[in-house]
Amino acid sequence: MPRACRTCKIITDDNVCPICKGTELSDDFSSLLIVLDPENSLLAEKLEAKEAGNYALKIR
Ligand SMILES: [Zn+2]
Repeated sequence: MPRACRTCKIITDDNVCPICKGTELSDDFSSLLIVLDPENSLLAEKLEAKEAGNYALKIR
């Protein structure tokens, strides 16, 4: 089951975050943002998304 990192907001299927290597993951998130090109996306900038991937907009 995919989960979202509370720090980076990236969504992953792993038990650790692929970006910060943290384990603060939540399966309770809503809204999904797919970042294909983080360097040219204003939303990615807002989320501080530095890598392409799926990001959660809201994590409870
Ligand atoms: Zn993270």
